[in-house]
Amino acid sequence: MFKLLHQLLATQERLSRINQATSNACKAPGCSEDQLEDLAHALYHCNGNNGIGIRCIDAVKTFIPNISIEKALLLQFEVEINMELAIICFLAIAWMNIWRSRVDGKRPLLSSVKGEMESQILLWRTAHSYDNDILFLELLMDSLCNTNDPTY
Ligand SMILES: [Zn+2]
Repeated sequence: MFKLLHQLLATQERLSRINQATSNACKAPGCSEDQLEDLAHALYHCNGNNGIGIRCIDAVKTFIPNISIEKALLLQFEVEINMELAIICFLAIAWMNIWRSRVDGKRPLLSSVKGEMESQILLWRTAHSYDNDILFLELLMDSLCNTNDPTY
C-alpha cells in the first residue's frame, strides 16, 4: 500500500511538472501536427501514445460512465469505495508507463502497460488482503483488452 501511494505521488509530481510546461509543442514520435503538450495531450490525445490513454479511460467508463479525461486527471470521480484503489492504480500505471515512454522518446505499448498491471496484481497476491482490488483491476484489464484492435 505504501509503495502504491508513493508511486502515485511520484506520478502526480511528474504530472504537475509537465502541466507547467504547457507552452511546449509536443515532440513525441508519431505525433502529427504542432500540438501543444499539455497534460491531456501528453497522456491522452497525443497520436504518439497509440491511443492507450483513451483506451484506459474507455475501460474505466465501463464502471464510471460519466468520467471525463479532465476528471480522471484530477482524480475527481465518484466510485464505490471497494473499486477506488483498483481504478486509481489502473490509471496511475497507464500514466506512468505512457509518461516514461515519452521521456525515453518511445511510443508506449499496450503490452507493457498490461505487464505492469499484472505485476501489481502479483504484488497484491503476495499480500493476501487485496482480493477485491485484484478482482477489479482484472476487470479493468479485461475492458482494456477487449476492444478489437489488432494493431496493438
Ligand atoms: Zn503529441
